[in-house]
Amino acid sequence: MIRERNYLLLTPGPLSTSGTVREAMLQDWCTWDKDYNEGIVSPIRKGLLALAGLDEREYTDVLLQGSGTYCVEATIGATVRPTDKLLILANGAYGERMARIADYYGIHYVLVSLRETELVTGEVAREALEAHPDVTHLSMVHSETTTGLLNPIEEVAEVIRGRGITFIVDAMSSFGGIPIDIKGLGIDFLVSSANKCIQGVPGFGFIIARKDKLMATKGNARSLSLDIYAQWETMERGHGKWRFTSPTHVVRAFYQAMKELNDEGGISARYERYRRNHRTLVDGMRSLGFETLLPDEAQGPIITSFLYPSADFDFASFYERLKAKGFVIYPGKISHADTFRIGNIGDVFPEDMEALIRVIKEIR
Ligand SMILES: *Cc1c(COP(=O)(O)O)cnc(C)c1O
Repeated sequence: MIRERNYLLLTPGPLSTSGTVREAMLQDWCTWDKDYNEGIVSPIRKGLLALAGLDEREYTDVLLQGSGTYCVEATIGATVRPTDKLLILANGAYGERMARIADYYGIHYVLVSLRETELVTGEVAREALEAHPDVTHLSMVHSETTTGLLNPIEEVAEVIRGRGITFIVDAMSSFGGIPIDIKGLGIDFLVSSANKCIQGVPGFGFIIARKDKLMATKGNARSLSLDIYAQWETMERGHGKWRFTSPTHVVRAFYQAMKELNDEGGISARYERYRRNHRTLVDGMRSLGFETLLPDEAQGPIITSFLYPSADFDFASFYERLKAKGFVIYPGKISHADTFRIGNIGDVFPEDMEALIRVIKEIR
């Protein structure tokens, strides 16, 4: 049986996984065998579409080795052609990263760079499109893990509806933990990864796409290993076969994690748990005098940024003392304020948050 946890990860990925997810990695799998491809990979691909509430005739998905960024890069690199123009609406490190990707590929793009505490609203999208009517693709982040802010993708979806713009959403830290109406919002490519809200371990990501849009990327990719069309085609033809070495143990763990998500009651039940975690955390921290970076209206349930309680607050020492008590948290990631972050996702429950609050009260 699995040893006890070394500590509870209150970080948004890798995050704390269940013992049963970790245990699922204790066997080796043959990547040529149907036990693996038809028994594990194909059900994962079908399961992701089912989780997203999508019809297999209209939507499809593709799994890709690497971390989440590999999938964002693969999607941007394969969808935005040299004659296209990408509009990136950013309010944090992950949105800005899309622009770095576009730089590497020499993609024609416009970056709207908001403050990290400002939401990407429909108004922001409307203004940008008025200034740049020749935009063909729009990309943005749903849950900006930089701060914990949740962008109103439905407002942006409303603005671009009917304009023929390809809509790319980085839902890395929201898919599986926050309901997203992919079809209703007209999302063409949604990117996420194994080690966030589905609560698997790191090693691969996935792209859920409109089938016609994915098929249209054939021949566009400027990277062999990040060619999502080629990867998709091999998976379709090979009934779950990956093009290059697949992270077998990680994939098997993900299969278990998806089962556990369904057992929990699906995305809506998980969303409720994350919201309870978040509520318990924020109420507890506020009772101890801590303040959140974001107003509650902009805050999502995934991760929360807290301001340093005083100018002489020693984060390094706070971190070490918390770790000694079994909790690992995250430093802040923004430039204009001193913050630290606490994640609410993973195999984490309101009782864990209560225990954390007791410890913070004791050590600070
Ligand atoms: C985790 C995350 C990513 C991917 O980061 P990796 O380190 O490549 O896994 C991308 N976008 C968001 C919003 C994330 O939270």
